[in-house]
Amino acid sequence: MERVDVIVIGSGQGGVPFAVDRAKRGDRVVLFDRGRLGGSCVNYGCTPSKTFLAAAHTAGRARHGKTLGVRGDVSVDFGATIDRVRSVVGEWRDGVEKKVAAAGIEVVRAEASFTGERIVTAGGQEFTAPLILIDTGTSPLVPHVPGLAGTPYMTNVTFFDQRVLPKRLLVMGGGYIGLELGQGMARCGCQVHIIDSNARVLAREEADASEALTKGLLADGISLHLSRKATEVKHDGGFEMTLDDGSKLSADALLVATGRVPNTAALQAEKSGIALDKRGYIGIDSRFATSCQGVYAIGDVAGQPAFTHVSWEDHRRLEDILAGGVRTRDDRVLGYSTYTEPQVARVGMTAEEAKQTGRDVRAVTLPLSEIARGIEWDQQNGFFRLVVDGQSEKILGATMVGYETAELVHVILAHMEAGSTWRVLERSVHIHPTFAEGLPSLARLLT
Ligand SMILES: Cc1cc2nc3c(=O)[nH]c(=O)nc-3n(C[C@H](O)[C@H](O)[C@H](O)COP(=O)(O)OP(=O)(O)OC[C@H]3O[C@@H](n4cnc5c(N)ncnc54)[C@H](O)[C@@H]3O)c2cc1C
Repeated sequence: MERVDVIVIGSGQGGVPFAVDRAKRGDRVVLFDRGRLGGSCVNYGCTPSKTFLAAAHTAGRARHGKTLGVRGDVSVDFGATIDRVRSVVGEWRDGVEKKVAAAGIEVVRAEASFTGERIVTAGGQEFTAPLILIDTGTSPLVPHVPGLAGTPYMTNVTFFDQRVLPKRLLVMGGGYIGLELGQGMARCGCQVHIIDSNARVLAREEADASEALTKGLLADGISLHLSRKATEVKHDGGFEMTLDDGSKLSADALLVATGRVPNTAALQAEKSGIALDKRGYIGIDSRFATSCQGVYAIGDVAGQPAFTHVSWEDHRRLEDILAGGVRTRDDRVLGYSTYTEPQVARVGMTAEEAKQTGRDVRAVTLPLSEIARGIEWDQQNGFFRLVVDGQSEKILGATMVGYETAELVHVILAHMEAGSTWRVLERSVHIHPTFAEGLPSLARLLT
């Protein structure tokens, strides 16, 4: 067994920068990964999905041009789109490889597991370190549906292996992964069916956000099968899925996007005295510490909000904590977005969540149809909502559904980080005619 300064398990969004920072300080660092360096985001998540959506949404927007008087047939060369996706992913992955090599990190490309307290083994090598970081992320959850196992279904991991557009696609799961990829495929020219057991898509978001998104999905010709479960899947050349109302759907391809499971099974964390929570995620306190001294966990595997920016920011907070600082995992304003069209962007609390904290909550909503830019560009499907504390007047959160709202929601995020009240937003003079101009108008509804 070799003794090193730092062990990092998982080359995810926080693991790599943490390992690089430590190595640059002169620590001897060993990084384990059982897959491709860069983790989910670079290889199977954000990077390929958003590069793919760049083509799909460009096609969707061009078709939308009809309502503006723009004519022309639009088609997507799916093979070329996927080639570009692979090339962009390759560039990012190479970048990670180079960064890790340049920092002098020793990489063990094998599945790591604990064999004792702070002892990690993989690929026939065994190491121990006083500081260990677990950043092993999550994997797709594949539900137990009779017949599904053994069929050539796709998950987000294999989705970008296809190069020929299927004519018909079944998507199990109406969460953000199923919706983004499903809408993307529809915009590439595929006939898409999305099946979800919830009564609405993006069931965790507010009902009117789901409603606006549903309108967008239906406009792309997607068939939604809501409050439905698959009871059987068969594959014989093509897929046939039976739903719980007895109806049957046929398709050439099937994407399973029904949730995520933490990558903890192989870790054997208990051998190092590291407790998991009820759902199998690594249990951490507010300072990322596990139940084993010297072992920390960040990102998706620690049950943190499952986003790249969270895992990345976790590593910065952990660095601060290890240096004696006071940051915790919770002292941040968190935003995220679903990159469908319309986009559904969120920051902070919804009105419902804020009410549950016992606050005096005020919420106002402005439809995009009342914003000049929305009317001029015919982007009227959506709304902006602001949630504020009735006493302190501080902004608590926002929901923004519409065109590129993931960009715009940062205005609210910045106000929240600065601790602004809604009155600061209300008196701001925003540029005409922009979507951002709708934000002071939204705040004005509180006067
Ligand atoms: C299709 C899709 C689209 C997404 N889009 C977005 C988006 O637009 N924006 C956003 O913020 N987030 C997005 N996400 C989520 C984002 O990808 C994750 O939140 C992020 O990658 C989590 O990073 P992480 O550091 O927790 O771990 P990961 O990036 O998941 O990395 C974990 C690493 O650990 C390795 N590993 C696991 N177990 C072991 C083991 N026992 N031994 C050795 N190595 C191990 C894995 O091989 C992997 O490389 C998306 C996810 C998916 C699936």
